[in-house]
Amino acid sequence: MIVGLTGGIGSGKTTVAKMFYELGVSIYIADIEAKNLMHTSKEIKEELIATFGEETYKNGKLNRSYLSNIVFNQPEELKKINAIVHPRVGQHFKDWYAARSKEKYIIKEVAILFENDSYKHCDKIITVVAPLEERFHRLLQRDQTTREAIQSRMNNQWNDAKKIALSDYVIQNEDLEKAKNQVAKIHQEISLLSDKI
Ligand code: ATP
Repeated sequence: MIVGLTGGIGSGKTTVAKMFYELGVSIYIADIEAKNLMHTSKEIKEELIATFGEETYKNGKLNRSYLSNIVFNQPEELKKINAIVHPRVGQHFKDWYAARSKEKYIIKEVAILFENDSYKHCDKIITVVAPLEERFHRLLQRDQTTREAIQSRMNNQWNDAKKIALSDYVIQNEDLEKAKNQVAKIHQEISLLSDKI
């Protein structure tokens, strides 16, 4: 069973995914896998170079700042990157999941689960929410970024209400202990559910 885990930036998706991991659940973090594949997949590398030029990789390593400059305020360019990277991540996830088919369920963390329709491939969906100001605060502390940059990323994501309407579970991630308790409860419920399937 595939359980999709999503939430707006700074809501604490990865923090919550790790709580499931601590309960023995396998977790797939799509953003991290995508970044890894941009380094390790020969096909991605070749296509990125064919599209954006040799400068895309510097000494064999992805030239992240070069790509960031290209996509900055140019959604069409970002679409090109996604069209190269997403299908490979999709295949990578399929192989990863096939190797875990005997597990009751796995957690797949995807930041843009709803926005790109990948929620349709999930059996259950969990959305992580946190107060807006708290999310700004966390991201400003974690990343070298600005309020404006955070806001512009938020503008590209669905709002919480829209996500909640399509979710099976919602985790309020404000107090970490309380979030952990919610994770334990959901883990129990989903484990029982998968016994019945
Ligand atoms: P992004 O979409 O940007 O990857 P995310 O939703 O995965 O973010 P996390 O990376 O899990 O969010 O959390 C963002 C930051 O907030 C991290 O530095 C994390 O340690 C912190 N954080 C997460 N949950 C809490 C919490 N309940 N209380 C305090 N800090 C938290």
